[in-house]
Amino acid sequence: MRVAIAGAGLAGLSCAKYLTDMGHTPIVLERRDVLGGKVAAWKDADGDWYETGLHIFFGAYPNMLQLFGELGIEDRLQWKEHTMIFNQPEAPGTYSRFDFPDLPAPLNGVMAILGNNDMLTWPEKIQFGIGLIPAMVQGQKYVEEMDKYSFSEWLKLKKIPHRVEKEVFIAMSKALNFINPEEISATILLTALNRFLQEKNGSKMAFLDGSPTERLCQPIVDHITDRGGEVRLNAPIKEFLLDEQGAVRGFEVRGIEGKPDEILTADIYVSAMPVDPLKVMLPKSWWELEYFQQLKELEGVPVINVHLWFDCKLTDIDHLLFSRSPLLSVYADMSNTCREYANPDRSMLELVLAPAKDWISKSDDEIVTATLKELENLFPDRFCGNKPAKLIKYHVVKTPRSVYKATPGRQNYRPSQITPIPNFYLTGDYTMQRYLASMEGAVLSGKLTAQAIASRQSQN
Ligand SMILES: Cc1cc2nc3c(=O)[nH]c(=O)nc-3n(C[C@H](O)[C@H](O)[C@H](O)COP(=O)(O)OP(=O)(O)OC[C@H]3O[C@@H](n4cnc5c(N)ncnc54)[C@H](O)[C@@H]3O)c2cc1C
Repeated sequence: MRVAIAGAGLAGLSCAKYLTDMGHTPIVLERRDVLGGKVAAWKDADGDWYETGLHIFFGAYPNMLQLFGELGIEDRLQWKEHTMIFNQPEAPGTYSRFDFPDLPAPLNGVMAILGNNDMLTWPEKIQFGIGLIPAMVQGQKYVEEMDKYSFSEWLKLKKIPHRVEKEVFIAMSKALNFINPEEISATILLTALNRFLQEKNGSKMAFLDGSPTERLCQPIVDHITDRGGEVRLNAPIKEFLLDEQGAVRGFEVRGIEGKPDEILTADIYVSAMPVDPLKVMLPKSWWELEYFQQLKELEGVPVINVHLWFDCKLTDIDHLLFSRSPLLSVYADMSNTCREYANPDRSMLELVLAPAKDWISKSDDEIVTATLKELENLFPDRFCGNKPAKLIKYHVVKTPRSVYKATPGRQNYRPSQITPIPNFYLTGDYTMQRYLASMEGAVLSGKLTAQAIASRQSQN
């Protein structure tokens, strides 16, 4: 079967990869001149990479890890020590850690929480532990039911002291969905906590050893093309063309650089676009269907990725850091964490700015100035001494609509990969799958879409 796929993010590429494995022929059409969508990266004039987002891979990503294995590139994941490191705002320049000992789950998670005495008191830890019992005992069913509450509401319901939210969960909800605990659905945090507590290495983190476009997306493309599939860049879908029954008869691809538009036909069509551009492109007649109406309730959240190159080393920490500062979410010194970006003498910080709604329309200069101000608290002795670190250059990448904003109630509106249109499927991190809007979710959704296509085909 020939399958046309709109979008070469991880979901579109994963869908194409699994279709080729089942003997089908995918043609992936990507709007931009770069692979990867939200994991896309670019090289600047000096040969330095900058990325759409600072990306972390977790032990609790079975489908992603399986994909690395199938591509034979497991050695590209640089696993870090099993710990979570938080900045201490009240003691600038210091850190607090949750160290996971080498014990089975959930014991290692419980020990990590109990072993941290800087951030939570014993009564707070106990209250929080009691609150988590239903999620651990009843599992995902309970976690899904909690989608009616924000995480702040859930904490109140469980009588968990507000300090627990302030100390730990502002940082975690900003890291998971780029919004604060009073906005994020309880399901998101509870899903992550459940995975982290139930799988021994669930919260173990890895960095890719280079840019995601070259080190992850390109091997998927090679796998697809070696088996007869195609991946085309600079191929924006302009319109879904319909037949009289309302099914797809072709993708109209916009011709760029003076080339004429092209109509691409296939047996099956897949949208691997994010939900926001998909909504703009949906044919009028499809909006009458309840399945598509639910998409109105999903919308991408803004986020900004800041890259700062310094003339000296700011830290030797080889890990992700939770900044716990007002403007920033997580960050890492990529000169320590990533083989291809390594530099023993100079730091390159990659920092996620979230929530970004008030910053997305500001200039890069304003964003960098505000980020540097926060760095004075994170690295006081590097910025406040008589030889302060000097910023050499920066890149700011804004994503006005990134992953869908996971506010309470959104789970009900995440569509399945199978649509009511017989030859049209959806894939993407926002579609329904048991992982969140993440790289793992995108890869899993691609696999589910490929399986759904193959199984419908075998029924015909
Ligand atoms: C700042 C940031 C940090 C993140 N950190 C993490 C992390 O640490 N861990 C993690 O697991 N996840 C993280 N994520 C989330 C992760 O990147 C996404 O969930 C995942 O990459 C989404 O993949 P996707 O294929 O569903 O969508 P996308 O990557 O958005 O792919 C959709 C593709 O469709 C293309 N497209 C759109 N319109 C058209 C059209 N008309 N024609 C053709 N193509 C079109 C787009 O150009 C894009 O390439 C982060 C995201 C961001 C932005």
